[in-house]
Amino acid sequence: MTLTLSVDGDRWRSHLRGVVDRTPGIVPVVKGNGYGFGAGRLARKSQWLGVDTIAVGTYVELPQVATRFDGDLLVLTPWRPFGPALDLEPAVAKRVVHTVSRAEDLAALRAHDPQARFVLELLTSMQRHGMTGRELRSLDLDALRASAGLDGIALHLPLEQGSHLGEVRRLLNDVVGSGVPTRTVWVSHLTATELATLRTSYADFTIRPRTGTGLWLGDRSALRVTATVLDAHPVERGDAFGYRSRTAPKSGHLLIVSGGTAHGIGLEAPTGESSLKARAATLARGGLDAVGFVRSPYSIDGKQRRFAEPPHMQASMLFLPSGARVPQVGDRIDVRVRYTATTFDEVTID
Ligand SMILES: *Cc1c(COP(=O)(O)O)cnc(C)c1O
Repeated sequence: MTLTLSVDGDRWRSHLRGVVDRTPGIVPVVKGNGYGFGAGRLARKSQWLGVDTIAVGTYVELPQVATRFDGDLLVLTPWRPFGPALDLEPAVAKRVVHTVSRAEDLAALRAHDPQARFVLELLTSMQRHGMTGRELRSLDLDALRASAGLDGIALHLPLEQGSHLGEVRRLLNDVVGSGVPTRTVWVSHLTATELATLRTSYADFTIRPRTGTGLWLGDRSALRVTATVLDAHPVERGDAFGYRSRTAPKSGHLLIVSGGTAHGIGLEAPTGESSLKARAATLARGGLDAVGFVRSPYSIDGKQRRFAEPPHMQASMLFLPSGARVPQVGDRIDVRVRYTATTFDEVTID
């Protein structure tokens, strides 16, 4: 009755181990839904991997990882002088590395917690959060030197489009030029080759790559997502069905399968045939698109099937044209999902 993520444990663990061994200083990112696995599970896995630091997205995520991983906890969302950042358990606060992205927040953080550890985030071409080179130079260097809180510089780079190296070089030159007393840089989204190049040309820097997707989801062959077939009903052309009493465009079967909006199924626009031209071609072929059936992420015997109507909260209705094999109630069928946007009913690791 479930939407299930099944993990080939040996394969997954050996992939994780391989990435960690090849990536010195790696900081596993365990934010959000824990990339489909759950943040708590990834925290435990990080403990097993033996890393010294993990990263969460927000302060509210700290409790679910803090009891499962006993190293440092980098918070990626910048500290602000309001909200849950001000309310940390003292035992957790000691392990937290804050991200400071505005000069004014540095003073406020230190007033709030003089022992606070932090990284200074620089604005990249992402333009999300961070200080400019000018802001960095305006910081009180004496105060930074006098305390032990500064753990490095943080850079959040866009997903790979050409090379990041030019931008990273510019930013590291800003760091060196500013006189800020650190030689540690926390980065995202650099390729292995870019990391190797940086380690060579900035040999005096310690590089801490933050990685989520490439680590947890880097070997898709270790992962399988399935739904359960819950029911199957034969329909004739013209039979009404569903919440909106649509009629079947031709004979076949309605298949009711587990997984719906509550799991994150079907919320994204269906891909593949969305362009007008493709749609016209489908219409010309007399495809099911003619009655507005959209592609679903479910597939049976390797063929992607269409939704008979939009997904319900916890189940979806598919239309199987006559001639297609009708799976048995209880069978499992494959589902293609975005792991970071899916809530699984169960995750099995064997
Ligand atoms: C999410 C995130 C990462 C990890 O991104 P992936 O693409 O999952 O590897 C790294 N740094 C920051 C600041 C992030 O928000």
